[in-house]
Amino acid sequence: MPLEPCPACGQQVSVRAPHCPHCGHPLAVPATPPQPVVIERPQQGGLGAAGCVLFLILLAVVAGVAAAATKPDEAALRNAVVAKHGVGFGIGAAIGETIGTAKYTYHDYILFSTLTMHGIGGSERTLATGYFGQVSVAAL
Ligand SMILES: [Zn+2]
Repeated sequence: MPLEPCPACGQQVSVRAPHCPHCGHPLAVPATPPQPVVIERPQQGGLGAAGCVLFLILLAVVAGVAAAATKPDEAALRNAVVAKHGVGFGIGAAIGETIGTAKYTYHDYILFSTLTMHGIGGSERTLATGYFGQVSVAAL
């Protein structure tokens, strides 16, 4: 352990000593990383946890209502597919009919909506997903 002279009495003192062991002169304490501060919160009789859960549930309900209220409709999804992939590809989506081998169907879920392409052999592919007033069109 490195030593340094005490500024008061000149004796060799450990640099980590809080004070000189010879004369008692206070020494500079080496910098130590700040200790984490633990804040003790007063317990609120179990209502705290239950209230927190209720609050989260309420948040989820509000978010769900907001999502359902802003869920894009079928026309928005079809238009988004046509806008991204062109009329030639999106014609089936635009008119909702079977074009060639694919059929496009709109699914109205509680929180979001999708436009799905059904191909021969039961293949299924989501072309567009709508949620919160936005439409996400899948890449081809
Ligand atoms: Zn000293």
